Amino acid sequence: MRVGIGYDAHRLVPGRPLVLGGVTIPSEVGLEGHSDADVLTHAVMDALLGAAGLRDIGHHFPDTDPSLAGAYSLGLLARVRGLLREQGWRPVNIDATLIAERPRIAPYREAMRNCLAQALGLSPGDVSLKATTNEGLGALGRGEGIAAIAVALIARE
Ligand code: MG
Repeated sequence: MRVGIGYDAHRLVPGRPLVLGGVTIPSEVGLEGHSDADVLTHAVMDALLGAAGLRDIGHHFPDTDPSLAGAYSLGLLARVRGLLREQGWRPVNIDATLIAERPRIAPYREAMRNCLAQALGLSPGDVSLKATTNEGLGALGRGEGIAAIAVALIARE
């Protein structure tokens, strides 16, 4: 078995959809980025890639790739699962934390867990999702963006 860690942050801007864990959340602001900027899914992808020693999300899915403009990151997560499988690895469990002053995550938590679990071939019970604020500290505390951190355990198939 091996473990990996992932971190990501994106800026909140008007006129963008807010997609977290593959779920579109009603919001006046959304995350800025080349893909759908799904910060939670990106952190999970980097945790899995890190565990397998397969570099990082920017290596596999560069933001200079026009085919990835607006890409649904949950689909990219499924591709990461495929990269792991090629190396004989399978995900075991995920633990992730979203750091956001707003919006409230709780109403969407189960939907996000289900989406992430489905993309990884896991049961929702194997995907833990927590949320916290940054207690008003710094840029995250001012609500200028959302960050996510994730840990993934993987095992040999
Ligand atoms: Mg990202």
